[in-house]
Amino acid sequence: MIDTNPLVRIENVTKAFGDTIALDDLSLDIARGEFVTFLGPSGCGKSTTLRILGGFERPTRGRVLLNDEDVTNLPPEKRHVNMVFQDYALFPHMTVSQNIAFGLELKGLPKKDIRARQDEIMSFLELDSYGDRYPAQLSGGQRQRVALARALAPDPALLLLDEPLGALDAKLRGQVQQELKAIQRRTNKTFFFVTHDQDEALTMSDRIVVMNKGKVEQVGTPEDLYFRPATQFVAEFIGDTNFLNGTLVGTEGDDVVMDWFGQTLKGSAHGALPQVGSEITASIRLEKLNFFDEKPDINAVKGKVIDKTFHGSRMSVEVLLEQAQGLKLRAFVDTETGQSLGADPVWIGWDSQSMAVLRD
Ligand code: ADP
Ligand code: MG
Repeated sequence: MIDTNPLVRIENVTKAFGDTIALDDLSLDIARGEFVTFLGPSGCGKSTTLRILGGFERPTRGRVLLNDEDVTNLPPEKRHVNMVFQDYALFPHMTVSQNIAFGLELKGLPKKDIRARQDEIMSFLELDSYGDRYPAQLSGGQRQRVALARALAPDPALLLLDEPLGALDAKLRGQVQQELKAIQRRTNKTFFFVTHDQDEALTMSDRIVVMNKGKVEQVGTPEDLYFRPATQFVAEFIGDTNFLNGTLVGTEGDDVVMDWFGQTLKGSAHGALPQVGSEITASIRLEKLNFFDEKPDINAVKGKVIDKTFHGSRMSVEVLLEQAQGLKLRAFVDTETGQSLGADPVWIGWDSQSMAVLRD
């Protein structure tokens, strides 16, 4: 995405810790008011990126611009940036109000301004009745809200959140996700959110940056990454999918043509393609496979249903293919369709838009 005036510009940032390259030539623009999520497995460089943006770490190479100003060498307190951590890092010996006032006092604001801002943010986050409590007297979700209030109180241009919901149990986590997203919308603040949880990333983000081993795999909206993955890593890390391995034949209009066990399949590509003749992998989401009695006039393979699992409104079905011996495809179908599938061979078909031919 080209933003001529991004809030944050990360320019060719590399961070090495001894022999470990935590970040490898990362470049990224973040627009004002955006909810951007950094998603990737443990150790891929998410926290390092946040720490560099927050000023807690300096890049080995590259620079960071905030509002067009080079802040690469500025300490945390000189940036309009604030951070929320997984363990909240609330001060246990301070009350909720005192915790929230902390950042405002650091800024050296007059007492009455601190009081006004404290009241404003506490009422905004519905914490008014908890002002005198200590962190230990709050639930996990409430503590999380206090941490957020404390971080938002000084009105930072950018809020960095490092797996802030990691300590919450699954049910509460869903609730706080909604809450956090709503707060971001209402404040119109720029959020840079880190998680290793793909569901969380899909639910909350305007844009997701998928990271792998210190490098960006793909950047896009949740829909882009789910339906139009560019790499195997993205297709596998986000959602569930089927992979088909074949050989790249070439392109026909918008379609990418691949040879799969002597049969031509058509897909679409969302990243650069290797040379014609290369071995390639394609990804098809489970819900994109359709069942037919007769061979359909699109990508089609024949097989036998060998397993069906009931999930309520839909069923998952496993099909053993006639070609490509031993290869199975998994599909989601509505329960009615699932129940109608019997022992007879069936055709499975899908259109080229549903099959993503992957970069690697
Ligand atoms: P993530 O947050 O995605 O789990 P990190 O950014 O914490 O990953 O770490 C990325 C890589 O850098 C890891 O291999 C980690 O071990 C290494 N790393 C992070 N911080 C340090 C440090 N202070 N000293 C040495 N290695 C570090
Ligand atoms: Mg981390």
